[in-house]
Amino acid sequence: MAAMVAVSRAGCLMGVSFRGDAWAYLSECQTNPRQRMTCVTRVSTALPRRGARQDVRMDSPAAPATGKDERSAPATRGGARASVVRRHNLGLLLECLHLEGPASRSELGATTGLSRSTVADLVHELVRSGLVVEDGVSPSSGPGRPSPIVRLRGSAAVAVVVELGVDAVSAAVIGLGGDVVDHRSVQLAGMRVSPEDTVRQVADLVRGMDIGPTHPRAVGLGVAVPGLVRRADGFVHVAPNLGWKDVALGGLLAEAFDVPLDRVRVGNEADLGAVGEHRRGAGRGCGHLVFISGEVGIGAGLIIGGQPMLGAAGYAGEAGHMLVNPDGRPCTCGSSGCWETEVGESALLRAAGVRDVRGLAAVDAVLTRVMAGDAAATAAVAEIGHWLGVGVGNITNLLNPEVVVLGGILQPLFPFVREPMLDAMHARCLGPVSQPVRVVPSALGTSAQLHGAAEVVLASVLADPTTR
Ligand SMILES: [Zn+2]
Repeated sequence: MAAMVAVSRAGCLMGVSFRGDAWAYLSECQTNPRQRMTCVTRVSTALPRRGARQDVRMDSPAAPATGKDERSAPATRGGARASVVRRHNLGLLLECLHLEGPASRSELGATTGLSRSTVADLVHELVRSGLVVEDGVSPSSGPGRPSPIVRLRGSAAVAVVVELGVDAVSAAVIGLGGDVVDHRSVQLAGMRVSPEDTVRQVADLVRGMDIGPTHPRAVGLGVAVPGLVRRADGFVHVAPNLGWKDVALGGLLAEAFDVPLDRVRVGNEADLGAVGEHRRGAGRGCGHLVFISGEVGIGAGLIIGGQPMLGAAGYAGEAGHMLVNPDGRPCTCGSSGCWETEVGESALLRAAGVRDVRGLAAVDAVLTRVMAGDAAATAAVAEIGHWLGVGVGNITNLLNPEVVVLGGILQPLFPFVREPMLDAMHARCLGPVSQPVRVVPSALGTSAQLHGAAEVVLASVLADPTTR
């Protein structure tokens, strides 16, 4: 892939990139995140490839609507090209509703740059497919004919999603628009449960919900795992805190639910948490986001330039094994002084003198002690805050993010660790690097990974609504 980038006089990032069989011309508004969805991409000579949709947007507010949208497409490839463009425009409208909520036809037209008649035509098709409904009229329609309100039918296409934790499993059914239809969790019987027993517990949990992966409205199964995952087939290379190595988890799940392997999407839990917070949580509209997942282990999910940054083999973000304390404790990875040995759940409970209990309830108990003035608990939380800031400072120097979102146990810890964390962070950051960074608690809490997994599963419907 080749790419070159320049900044236009209009303040938008202009890019030209080659993807397989097409040159794409891309602009991305830096001031209005909504416009990032609708920026211009003109595919010059070849059809856009399926899956490259985020680079393929037809019509843009940056290039004011002319009413010529897809009908202006060159006729060189006739119906095939028109069909591709139509699917993209259908997806464009559906994604607007998915991320921004109900909107009038006129608002959809203003956001996407598509003409009024085109929006009406596309909305009719989405209504016919059962993905959206129209009701009422917009009070802000202004002069002219009233503009009906378009709403998603969230349950028309759903993702069945699961998060595997060290000591618990959560499952949910999440529809278009982030609508949580069902959500439940179960504690695992002990630590380091085998993959086979874990899959059995996942199957029992999911079968208790009204909608499973084989339901006609289910698009697929998404699973978040605290380990290194090969996304192509859901193979878990290693998950130190689960005690797993070389587990064909995707295959086990496909077999357990009797679904094709390509309907099972397994990802690293921090990567999926970043997607969830970026699309629906504390990082909405941010092009550069780091999500720190704090559980027994620590992981990071990265969004760079509005896109997930997974690394060459898909294993980027193992921030928990970044060295922060050369004199630190041994880590499950075989090294010592890793970040997660200083700020993970075990580190907090150990520092607070807690034995034999773990999980969010144990963390909450420590925070209750802090609020009651307990000296040992207060010192433990301050120590965690210091080491948290050391790591966040390193990451900030490296990546210059707009926002760092703290998830997992770090979310409830946030108000207690904020001050020592920021002190340690700013002591290590070069001024201009750290000044614009916001460090915030997760907005989605324990659901961030589930929402991220749902976004990954539902992406196929957003890319081509005609598949439903
Ligand atoms: Zn380590």
